Amino acid sequence: MTTTETETPQPIPLPVDKDGNETSAICQTCGVAVPITRGLPLERVEFFRTGRGYSQEPPRSANPARVARASYTQTYTRCVVCAGRRAHAEHLADTYRVSRQLGPVVAHARMEAALVALLALRLPAPTDLTKSELRALFGPFARAGLNIMWRTRADRALGHSLPEPWAHLTPEDHQNLRNAYGAMLADRTAAGAPPVLVPPPARTGPRGAVVAAGGCLMCGVGGVPVPALRVRHDPDGAAEDVWTEQGWKATMLGARRPLGSVYGHTCPACTSAIAEVNAPGKEAIDRAWFTHLNRRDLIDRETTGIHGWGAMVAVAASRGEAPPAPNPEPWAHLSTDGLPDPNPVQAMQGVRPR
Ligand SMILES: [Zn+2]
Ligand SMILES: [Zn+2]
Repeated sequence: MTTTETETPQPIPLPVDKDGNETSAICQTCGVAVPITRGLPLERVEFFRTGRGYSQEPPRSANPARVARASYTQTYTRCVVCAGRRAHAEHLADTYRVSRQLGPVVAHARMEAALVALLALRLPAPTDLTKSELRALFGPFARAGLNIMWRTRADRALGHSLPEPWAHLTPEDHQNLRNAYGAMLADRTAAGAPPVLVPPPARTGPRGAVVAAGGCLMCGVGGVPVPALRVRHDPDGAAEDVWTEQGWKATMLGARRPLGSVYGHTCPACTSAIAEVNAPGKEAIDRAWFTHLNRRDLIDRETTGIHGWGAMVAVAASRGEAPPAPNPEPWAHLSTDGLPDPNPVQAMQGVRPR
């Protein structure tokens, strides 16, 4: 038998009959002994002795007698309370159709684990759930519940049950559960929250190069909307999702004289304008701006004075001035004065003149 960890109260040996067979099963969820009676659902799990304790992985030894001697079969069930909770979990998973999405085995197990976590936090089991509440329950929160089930730790005390339900939980377990609950609440809030404006990632260029930080090199916008949940889980990844690293000569951004290269990022709209014309430069800038204005009829017209925000940063740097602030809206640094009025039909259809 393995030695038990220093937990109070200590697990107690299961009662045995005169032949040494255990007469009780263990509640796989809360760890108490349950007398084996007719009709009690049982599950027998074989454990194998390892260097450090017991494992469900069979040893490599090919000698069956040795493997048998080194094994221990533990009988599991659920106590009345835990069986009731499990039934409620199955009902919830089926009612909310998670069983159909995940398959009943996974859905039932995760729902049960979530209810276990709620119980350990002394919170009521849910009755009416919204879709996002349910989704939140099935994430890391359910994993936290699974981690505290007795069965996940039973290899420490095979043949033993707990003197009272959940007696194995440590202050660290409670802390982990509280953390998981806090994270779940934050997820739920983030799921219903408006998108977050994400600025471009930090960028460095070669030594002495101009870096246009905080905005799109072309339209100058300072933030791109990203779902709040994505930002909460991985702010750096969220920024990398939407911003594309670039480095161009300032003249390609519309600077009138050579000012060296400018390093920075482009937003998704400007990145796709570049892709449409297969190259960065004036053509891409025109396309991005006129698309933003919903004036694609002006694309390919001779226009002057259009420049990307990054060109203004390069000019400011060449004069030793502070860079311009990123734009609150795309292309806010350009004026639409002097643009021809839209041809109503072409403007509506987005057709360009031939
Ligand atoms: Zn139980
Ligand atoms: Zn842009």
